[in-house]
Amino acid sequence: MSTFQAPKGTYDLLPPNSSTYLAVREAIAAPLRNSGYGYVETPGFENVELFARGVGESTDIVTKEMYAFETKGGDRLALRPEGTASVLRAALEGNLHKAGNLPVKLWYSGSYYRYERPQKGRYRHFSQVGAEAIGAEDPALDAELIILANDAYRSLGLRNFRILLNSLGDQECRPVYRAALQDFLRGLDLDEDTLRRAEINPLRVLDDKRDAVQRQLVGAPLLRDYLCDACKAYHEEVRELLNAEGVEYEDDPKLVRGLDYYTRTTFEFVHDGLGSQSAVGGGGRYDGLSEMIGGPALPSVGWALGVDRTVLALEAEGVTLDIPAATSVFAVPLGEEARRVLFRVVTELRRGGVATDFSYGGKGLKGAMKNANRSGARLTIVAGERDLAEGLVQLKDMESGDQVAVPVTEVVEAVRARLA
Ligand code: ATP
Ligand code: MG
Repeated sequence: MSTFQAPKGTYDLLPPNSSTYLAVREAIAAPLRNSGYGYVETPGFENVELFARGVGESTDIVTKEMYAFETKGGDRLALRPEGTASVLRAALEGNLHKAGNLPVKLWYSGSYYRYERPQKGRYRHFSQVGAEAIGAEDPALDAELIILANDAYRSLGLRNFRILLNSLGDQECRPVYRAALQDFLRGLDLDEDTLRRAEINPLRVLDDKRDAVQRQLVGAPLLRDYLCDACKAYHEEVRELLNAEGVEYEDDPKLVRGLDYYTRTTFEFVHDGLGSQSAVGGGGRYDGLSEMIGGPALPSVGWALGVDRTVLALEAEGVTLDIPAATSVFAVPLGEEARRVLFRVVTELRRGGVATDFSYGGKGLKGAMKNANRSGARLTIVAGERDLAEGLVQLKDMESGDQVAVPVTEVVEAVRARLA
């Protein structure tokens, strides 16, 4: 039988690189934890209808990219392609919005699934860290989220990213713009698919990546010229809050999130070292989404950052994260008696919070020391038969190479003193 391979469009996270992924998730989560966001975890799959409504029937995600299936019991489910719809569903189901504490601020981290054409930075299984602030309309909340994502990226050492910012208007001003854009699009030389899209969701045509389409869009009407006074003031406030914090952004009047109920603030983080998969994260305000999935009116804003692309961005900038070695102490027993004695020492050190590993498999000194080196441990405890007969072990400093004999009864203390 041939050996198995990870499915197309997926890859495994393995040590030592996997520690970078953990560190990225942690770095994105840290500013959220520090800003009143509570952790939420939802199932890896949901009723397919939630995404059809919550992401949008006409989006690529729903029409082409969803892993939808029917269970043996006849339920129509889909692997989650994104987080917002699930998180909002969970908040509504758990009545978090009724606890009298709006906005409900939540963060999440997990796996997402989209049936896409795999390429660098585009996978069928990928991971996101996201944040949602549910139930408040306040430009400071939009600014807060943009600042937190910006801080997360900067804390990782990323510099070559840009923030694109736009406003999509609201139920009052967008329909007027939509009609004007549709009029404009109808006069262009577009293929049938794109013309159909122009009828269903014209804003998404602005997001078309093809040159032939973009060239025709040069004179397209822009939403910013159609914003109502309330939307204009709201957007201006978001921009001023970002300016005051020194967060740089580019106004991008063609940036859309495509969905009809996405409103007002919309933004994307793009990294310039990633080629065509340049979006490392994106988000915006979705004031209409709760009602779309059967909830009350709950104006909300959120973002999702892609962990995979963030790791690629680190590579593109040549940033290596300062991740401390997983192991501080490595124990090398030589012989049966030493094995029993050191195993107890190792357990005691671990219980006392010292990251410790052990040479398994009855290796000789040379092989065991190789493992000790690879573990990155600062100290190695070597116990041989002759030392042990005198109640001693050798404590070796891996950096300086210095070695001292220490009574086995005192080795835990000696290790602590040296690591302190
Ligand atoms: P793109 O335009 O690149 O397809 P998107 O608009 O579909 O991105 P979002 O739904 O906004 O992406 O998801 C937020 C982030 O999740 C993206 O900015 C990206 O970093 C990441 N992401 C989305 N799809 C994938 C994927 N297939 N593989 C890896 N990362 C992804
Ligand atoms: Mg996509």
